Amino acid sequence: MTSLDDFDALDERDPLAQFRDRFYLPNGTLYFDGNSLGLLSREAERAVLEALDAWRQLAIDGWTGGARPWFYLGEELGAAQAELVGAKPSEVIVTGGITVNLHALLATFFRPADGRSRVVADTLDFPSDLYALQSHLRLRGLDPAEHLLLVPSRDGRTIDEEDVIAALDRPDVALAWLPSVLYRSGQLLDMPRLAAAARARGITIGFDCAHSVGSVPHHLHEWGVDFAVWCTYKYLNAGPGAVGSLFVHERHHGLGPGLAGWWGSDKQRQFDMASELTPAATAGAWQIGTPPVLGAAALYGSLGMLREAGVDRLRAKSLALTNLLIELADRYLAPLGFEVGTPRDADRRGGHVALEHPAAVRITRALKARGIIPDFRPPNVIRLAPVPLYTRYRDVGEVVMALKSIVESNQHLEFADERATVA
Ligand SMILES: *Cc1c(COP(=O)(O)O)cnc(C)c1O
Repeated sequence: MTSLDDFDALDERDPLAQFRDRFYLPNGTLYFDGNSLGLLSREAERAVLEALDAWRQLAIDGWTGGARPWFYLGEELGAAQAELVGAKPSEVIVTGGITVNLHALLATFFRPADGRSRVVADTLDFPSDLYALQSHLRLRGLDPAEHLLLVPSRDGRTIDEEDVIAALDRPDVALAWLPSVLYRSGQLLDMPRLAAAARARGITIGFDCAHSVGSVPHHLHEWGVDFAVWCTYKYLNAGPGAVGSLFVHERHHGLGPGLAGWWGSDKQRQFDMASELTPAATAGAWQIGTPPVLGAAALYGSLGMLREAGVDRLRAKSLALTNLLIELADRYLAPLGFEVGTPRDADRRGGHVALEHPAAVRITRALKARGIIPDFRPPNVIRLAPVPLYTRYRDVGEVVMALKSIVESNQHLEFADERATVA
């Protein structure tokens, strides 16, 4: 890299370049944390203001009136994500959040019987998912120490699909729950292969797609995945704590929800107020209660942009950015004690790059002080997500040069070795 200007040519040729101006980039910063909290776009902001306006103007009639009747919000915003996740419109619903939806789906899909009572997950899973799995085992009187099989990592960073499949070979496995992309290293698991392996063994399989939806193409229906969950505040840019999403394969639509509530009703029957639930014949059956309308509104704006960009173009640019980041890290940062913790094979990589360094906490703080926002994950990982909608090639060059300069000049030693509460 002779000069950052070298990257401007790449940015000039970028077919997604125009999206950057449609986002609010926090004042003067370079933002590499969109895999934790995506940025606000003008479209998302407008959609929230329109939702407030509907409340102001229509009050109770907003449920069925106005441009976006709230009563059908879960179904409409679910269908709007069908293409992103490779599902039929009836298989996706916007409701709950990742952990809450996982609970709702485990209540349906974890049915220990006929000598099958074990759950397969992995040691690198996001903790909340493991807590949910453990609690479902306990609710059924099963000891997690014995019934939760955590596939170990061979290198502390990644999970080998062979090891997962070996665990599925046990005859007592009822269910497998795996991440699409590991939140720390950014490894993309081979979802179609794992789904096929589970199905061939009569095992129910679900995926946590928090770190892949909006970044990586999916074919959840075609792959035969039983169920999946994801949030909308990471790559979908719908705002902090925005309502989440779930997928249920249509072959299960007759099952009915394990945790029932009136919002899972057949829409035509919901206001009959019957004492028996008639579940929706779609993934809508897994809704429980009234959706947070304002917490979903931003999605109307942000999903429009994602669809306009197209998931294939997003993936192509994301890989080009992460390739560049890895290449520059190898050249300029490896001599300074950094290691790339993310798989180098593009097919095994999600949307972010994990840079490992023994002084990761201090370096993260020094980077933030320079107006570059990464995040830190213990014990030694600096995560950098060059989100294709609002990251330039030039920004990738800039973050690498900043890291190089910080460590070369020992600037990070001026910062405390204490991590912040969130990142
Ligand atoms: C972000 C994330 C979560 C967070 O769950 P919430 O219920 O939305 O708080 C869970 N799992 C994974 C893999 C995540 O990346």
